Amino acid sequence: EVDWFSLASILFLLMFAPLIVYYFIMSCDQYQCSLTDPLIDLLTGNKHLADIWNKTPTLTYRAAGIYTLWITFQVILYVFVPDFCHKFLPGYVGGVQEGAVTPAGVVNKYEINGLQAWLITHVLWFANAYYFHWFSPTIIFDNWIPLLWCANILGYTVSTFAMIKGYFFPTNAKDCKFTGNFFYDYMMGVEFNPRIGKWFDFKLFFNGRPGIVAWTLINLSYAAKQQELYGQVTNSMILVNVLQGIYVLDFFWNEAWYLKTIDICHDHFGWYLGWGDCVWLPYLYTLQGLYLVYHPVQLCPANAVGIWLLGLIGYYIFRTTNHQKDLFRRTNGNCKIWGKKPAYIECSYMAVDGTKYHSKLLTSGFWGWARHFNYTGDLLGSLAYCLACGFEHILPYFYIVFMTILLTHRCLRDEHRCSSKYGKDWERYTAAVPYRLLPGLF
Ligand code: NDP
Repeated sequence: EVDWFSLASILFLLMFAPLIVYYFIMSCDQYQCSLTDPLIDLLTGNKHLADIWNKTPTLTYRAAGIYTLWITFQVILYVFVPDFCHKFLPGYVGGVQEGAVTPAGVVNKYEINGLQAWLITHVLWFANAYYFHWFSPTIIFDNWIPLLWCANILGYTVSTFAMIKGYFFPTNAKDCKFTGNFFYDYMMGVEFNPRIGKWFDFKLFFNGRPGIVAWTLINLSYAAKQQELYGQVTNSMILVNVLQGIYVLDFFWNEAWYLKTIDICHDHFGWYLGWGDCVWLPYLYTLQGLYLVYHPVQLCPANAVGIWLLGLIGYYIFRTTNHQKDLFRRTNGNCKIWGKKPAYIECSYMAVDGTKYHSKLLTSGFWGWARHFNYTGDLLGSLAYCLACGFEHILPYFYIVFMTILLTHRCLRDEHRCSSKYGKDWERYTAAVPYRLLPGLF
């Protein structure tokens, strides 16, 4: 059942999320990244919507060509190039891996080759920038708005296709969820793991490739633009590139672990993931780099070091917390967390078919400090990216605001699910670990 609040939020997002993305990118293009000036211009009658719209670059053949090539190249790397990295990189888990058991009892196999795709793409990028010169490294920045239209076309096409596929030719009919509400189903998805053929998995591809491989390339293009415009790359731009680069590389190094996260284990594939991965993620997660092209902030050494440390601490907490849970669950508790045998709460739950299962909830390490300390680490890292941009404008701070809303909502959503899954055992767990994100506060 879809309650009215969820429905209202969904309608709001379906109507306004594309406009929000447009507004941010247009503000940089036409107003030097000021979020208030366009509103002031419109409210005072200084400009009309048509003036802003007429100044907006349109879809071009060049952008359509770049985007088609980019997506085709990523599809080829994903589907036709089996992973080689796990054969020579110690500790890296790649190649064919199994996902979690779906509600219908299916265990999907995935070809984990994201790190390889990322490496090949970036080696080619640098080879082009320093040796071949086929295209300018500023190509992404120079076509940023025409590419936005392409990303939207793909985002809407894939979400609509996923909806139709869920109704008429689902990969696994038993893993489909129909609420009867068209908007909810379109947004949150019908199919759990839509696939084409045996290997093309929508969730893994769209989240990782057009979304996360692009993230570091987009940042590199911004750095190249700074170099072109000002003859140098600022330390803030380097910080944003390096800190977000660590986050992206971490994602691909741990792509097999990603199969066990909420995105893959619980969310269905709809507009939220399809359009979000094609448009929201590459356009809004990279706002700091875009801002720094228009405002080349040079941080004093003390601030640069402080932001670097904050970013690294955030990353350390994020990675260690995720690793602790992963290790604990993989070894069924037969491991050491911070040098000691871990403490945990034994719990059980009932599957739809009435079978009883047992599980464990970790209460040691960072999981003893708060129930989602991995989110706290993520938020500290996100704050570091924003701080690198100084305090002149609010636009670069969108990321921390968005991540706080996303992760707090995700935390509540997850806890609601865990509470219905584990019942009384979940209450024992929340009594043992009373805080969600910030020990002593929330
Ligand atoms: P978690 O990795 O925290 O997974 C939550 C699940 O873990 C729960 O549903 C429960 O599943 C299990 N669990 C909860 N508590 C415990 C415990 N104490 N011991 C053992 N298992 C437990 O959440 P996500 O999948 O959302 O996030 C993974 C990472 O991805 C996070 O670090 C997050 O910050 C990051 N992320 C980043 C985003 C971005 O846009 N940058 C977006 C989303 C996430 P079960 O049913 O198995 O018990």
